Amino acid sequence: MSRSTHLLARAMEVIPGGVNSPVRAFNAVGGDPPFIARGEGCEVVDVDGHHYLDLVGSWGPLILGHADTAVLGAAMAAASRGSSFGAPTEGEIELAEEIVARVPSVDKVRLCSSGTEATMHALRLSRGVTGRDLIVKLEGCYHGAHDGVLVKAGSGVATFSRGEATAQPGSPGVPAATAALTLVAPFNDPGAIRALLEAHDQQIAAVILEPVAGNMGCVPPAPGYLQELRRMCTDAGTHLIFDEVMTGFRVGRGSAQERFGVTPDLTCMGKVVGGGYPLAAFGGSAAIMDQLAPLGPIYQAGTLSGNPVAVAAGRATLRQLDDACYERLETLGDRLEEAIQPALTYHKCSMNRVGSMFTVFFRPTPPTRFDEVQQCDLEGFGRFFRAALNGGVYLPPSQYEAAFLPARLTDEQLDRIVDGLTSALVAAHVH
Ligand SMILES: *Cc1c(COP(=O)(O)O)cnc(C)c1O
Repeated sequence: MSRSTHLLARAMEVIPGGVNSPVRAFNAVGGDPPFIARGEGCEVVDVDGHHYLDLVGSWGPLILGHADTAVLGAAMAAASRGSSFGAPTEGEIELAEEIVARVPSVDKVRLCSSGTEATMHALRLSRGVTGRDLIVKLEGCYHGAHDGVLVKAGSGVATFSRGEATAQPGSPGVPAATAALTLVAPFNDPGAIRALLEAHDQQIAAVILEPVAGNMGCVPPAPGYLQELRRMCTDAGTHLIFDEVMTGFRVGRGSAQERFGVTPDLTCMGKVVGGGYPLAAFGGSAAIMDQLAPLGPIYQAGTLSGNPVAVAAGRATLRQLDDACYERLETLGDRLEEAIQPALTYHKCSMNRVGSMFTVFFRPTPPTRFDEVQQCDLEGFGRFFRAALNGGVYLPPSQYEAAFLPARLTDEQLDRIVDGLTSALVAAHVH
């Protein structure tokens, strides 16, 4: 018996399903998850000594790979001065200044500890500022694990609940009354948003979306889509919230809003901004952000918000993400796509990619919305995933997730990824 198998059995005794976040259990793809012993640059090593090229990167944060020297040094130095004070520190200002300098729509930012908190606080802020209760979210977008956004959500919610009716809560325990405040529209369909804004005139506080969807697999916005949403929201007095928890500092120096040239009212950040430590943020114009307590009436708080160790890691990460780094990420993505495209076509699979974020889909044409992702051959994806893992390439264990290339990947490592994914496509189709 492998050590991972043994640890999974032991974990199951004391942790539900043996994991602390459901997709880690590999239910969607079959097989048991390897328990990870350590990360080394762009690889992870499991407790049985297997090495994998890591295209999960802790689900996005590890854009510089594992245990980056500068990030590690900054975190250790901060920890040695004390782990948490619940009082303001200089590092928080420096991280906030870096975020404000990069992200076009953000004048002021508040730090918190998870992407879930960032979207929860941003939505409350929009409701508080607009005095409206309804929100619109898009099918297949994931905004964390709080009640109001667990409706037609992507990521683990899509992975674990199949074929439920529209506008039903995505999980037992979400009150129907809460879900009823969340209206849902398909991604890449501006007409559906226009219809909702007209039908609920003066009642919709915010439209929240991932500007590049990553939690139904990678699905880019159609040309002009984000611009059209911006116009419609402005006309309706509705906030446009970009959930850039995944895309923030991943698809460009100033995030997706800079890449696509669209300015949201509020932006949620997480993952890369914390460099692998628990840190997230939300920000926007001073006029909106100053409505938060203590200046304004809208409450938001967190005991570990702006944690000094996480802040130090986030700063050390962002500082290294310069133009050369983003060029490298684009080059790596271009090369990967070009190299595996023939195999994808041959095996009737497809790929969506934005920079270093991508998904291989088990359907012949790349999906543009959630219902198209749901038509994928999930059994085929499971075989592909397991073959890739056996070949030393660690992909996210669900069709409804995006994979990430780390910036420090060498050309040799990229070649191994191409070979591994190409062989896995063959293996997925021989059964
Ligand atoms: C990961 C993710 C979240 C949730 O962040 P957590 O830190 O897991 O709470 C929210 N939105 C998007 C777009 C994400 O990718």
